[in-house]
Amino acid sequence: MSVPSVPGADEGAWAHPSPDQNPLFGVCHLAPAIGRLRFHAGLMGAGKSALAIQVGFHRRQAGRPGLVFTSADRGGAGQLSSRLGLSVSARHFDESTDFVATVGSDLPARGFVIVDEAQFLTPEQVDQLALLVDELAIDVDCFGLLTAFDSHTFPGSQRLVELCDEMLDLVEVLCWCGAPGRVNARIEGGQVIRHGSQVAVGDLIGGGEGATYRVLCRRHWREGTPG
Ligand SMILES: [Zn+2]
Repeated sequence: MSVPSVPGADEGAWAHPSPDQNPLFGVCHLAPAIGRLRFHAGLMGAGKSALAIQVGFHRRQAGRPGLVFTSADRGGAGQLSSRLGLSVSARHFDESTDFVATVGSDLPARGFVIVDEAQFLTPEQVDQLALLVDELAIDVDCFGLLTAFDSHTFPGSQRLVELCDEMLDLVEVLCWCGAPGRVNARIEGGQVIRHGSQVAVGDLIGGGEGATYRVLCRRHWREGTPG
């Protein structure tokens, strides 16, 4: 007697119905509703905000309702703006924002959510977003930095790596030497700062407090050579 060892070994047992035999084929409203949690991770200057705006635009054009969130945006509260000059209205989030309560009450199932500056999410908020994906089939696209100036992952970005369905790289950003950028280096008084609170990165958008940020390759970050 033969025992199929892998799916597909026994054609008869594993055959799927052809499209014209499948009662669900072509009947979209009966298809299972599935949302996705995506993390678009990039270095500073990789065009995260511009892509976030673009993704939202295309989703809306497809007739889907959505909500856009950002935190500490360069354009001020209530707006998501990019260095390229694009902007859309957005809701502000901080560590007290309850995404399940906010999105759950204001967005129908199968809508979409865009979160820019996603590195500022708390791990708990990432869990909330994952729950919305699973329970309401909402597509959630998070755009943010993977690591802080100390080269370690932001807690929220870490949680996104752990839970996301898909992690997407953005445009490559190069160091001044031409090598691939690796760290969003914090520079104060011409010196590369490697230690300190990641919270201080909150001023990266405005570049205030006397600190500036520059993408460096791993070697030049380690050597402290800002170029
Ligand atoms: Zn370099």
